[in-house]
Amino acid sequence: MLVEAGPAFVPSRDYPQTAPDWERHLFPERQGSQGRHSFAPLQRLDEHLRQQLGSWSAGKGRLNPGTHRHAWRYHHVRGVGGSTLHFTGEAHRLHPRAFRLESEFGLGADWPFGYELLEPWYVKAESVIGVAGVGESTRPRSASYPQPAHPPGFAAQMLAKASSQDWHPNALAVLSRPHQGRPPCNYCSACNRGCPRTDKGSTDVTFIRQAQATGRLTIMSESEVLALVPGGDDRVKELIVAEPGGVQQRVRARIYAVACGAVETPRLLLLSTNDQARDGLANESGQVGKNFLETLSWKSTGLSPEPLGSHRGLPADLISWDFNAPDAIPGVVGGCRFTHSTAEGGFNGPIAHATRAIAGWGRQHRRQLNEEFGNLLSIGAIGEWLPHDLSYIDLDPESRDRHDRPIARIHSHLDDMALARLRFMAKKSRDILAEVGVTDLREEYGSYDFFSATHVFGTARMGTDPQMSVVNPDGRSHRWTNLYVADASVFPSSGGGESPSLTIAALALRMANHIARRLARRD
Ligand SMILES: Cc1cc2nc3c(=O)[nH]c(=O)nc-3n(C[C@H](O)[C@H](O)[C@H](O)COP(=O)(O)OP(=O)(O)OC[C@H]3O[C@@H](n4cnc5c(N)ncnc54)[C@H](O)[C@@H]3O)c2cc1C
Ligand code: SF4
Repeated sequence: MLVEAGPAFVPSRDYPQTAPDWERHLFPERQGSQGRHSFAPLQRLDEHLRQQLGSWSAGKGRLNPGTHRHAWRYHHVRGVGGSTLHFTGEAHRLHPRAFRLESEFGLGADWPFGYELLEPWYVKAESVIGVAGVGESTRPRSASYPQPAHPPGFAAQMLAKASSQDWHPNALAVLSRPHQGRPPCNYCSACNRGCPRTDKGSTDVTFIRQAQATGRLTIMSESEVLALVPGGDDRVKELIVAEPGGVQQRVRARIYAVACGAVETPRLLLLSTNDQARDGLANESGQVGKNFLETLSWKSTGLSPEPLGSHRGLPADLISWDFNAPDAIPGVVGGCRFTHSTAEGGFNGPIAHATRAIAGWGRQHRRQLNEEFGNLLSIGAIGEWLPHDLSYIDLDPESRDRHDRPIARIHSHLDDMALARLRFMAKKSRDILAEVGVTDLREEYGSYDFFSATHVFGTARMGTDPQMSVVNPDGRSHRWTNLYVADASVFPSSGGGESPSLTIAALALRMANHIARRLARRD
């Protein structure tokens, strides 16, 4: 049984890319498809750093004129398929050395196992999803990708040719060939608005669809789990679920796997208290909600002197892993990666170009748009986020949801190492653009003055030491023998900018195999 707080989306009905005003609509919101969360005050901005790392655009000027970092949002979707409904579809394996940050560098935490153990589960996840990509030397593979890589678009080809970095077609959960009744991609560039053709491998059209085909999956959508009830025997007894309309019911199972995302999973565990678990379920170590890891990101966009047609094609078709290893950035621990991301940054339609990339108004503005549209080039960077005491999730003492429960509160702080990494990401993005002849910058956007996280992890950490972690290497709570956590909350470290969903899927498949074996031996 899958209990999901949000609604089920219907791709052909809910993601209408063919509407004339498609660009004005982002991923559609439906009733209950956004959760609420709050932010503790974010840090004060330093004017000197703002000169280097502040967000701005030619059309709008300084994007955060305030004195403090602005809490924009934790981007997510509540719905059957979760946040993968609007993800870009990058399907990355973690760098093997990202599993050993503590033992190699004395920072963060090690994963309780290495890349080799997860490798067969990566293969399985790639085959269920239908990932298209090319092998690359830092991540050994026991099988080739199930789908051939997508050909990079024209802008990406130009970038790969002119830049001195090593670029590869990005590994994507986007079909290049038909797969299990889903058609190949038509390169409309709208993945983040939801793919109407279902060739993007979001969880609803891959894992959930295949589970439904077994006839053994029941989905309760628009049904929010209010709490898990701790029993007296180190087992979770039942769930309290609010069904549509607010009626509460109790649901019992032999095994429970929590996968609410790294903000809502700790919230749900912290809300699940009684005399058996006074500080929250599975929180014997006090680690639930700690070690919050967020997306450290940067994007620079400039105008190419040559026509590029960069508004078309896959949103992130080309990637460079040159600085992805944990020691690849000089003087900093934790790597990053760079992508061609013009369409991913929203520059895939004329409204974005007209409002963000060009200043002014009137005839001159119109002429400029006619001449320039399609010629922008964006380099996006995402980097490691190391755990520290000032970034965590707790329950907001002041704000409550419609069921009268405290909402999650996000505490986020950029430490010195994150700032140094971000400076590198920004400088390198500008250097790459300059190298390919793009010096007329039009927009820059990053984590220095905005909290805007798409990848979040770490708040129910996996490990072998019950004092320092929430779940064991199988994803099971150290104390509660029928409770598992199956989302990015269990990541001990974020990796050097890899997108997380493929690793979440590989971990979940491995966990499911472990649970099936337990059930088979009636454990
Ligand atoms: C714009 C964007 C682009 C992205 N691009 C990529 C990408 O290219 N590649 C990649 O790997 N990742 C990408 N991501 C990130 C990726 O979507 C997430 O990392 C991933 O979906 C997280 O999975 P999760 O299971 O941890 O949480 P989620 O996918 O957020 O799923 C949590 C689910 O739990 C449900 N839930 C929460 N609380 C309750 C409750 N109390 N009761 C019942 N249900 C509940 C929610 O409704 C939701 O459906 C992107 C994200 C965004 C926003
Ligand atoms: S670019 Fe491809 S995967 Fe993305 S929305 Fe369009 S058809 Fe779907």
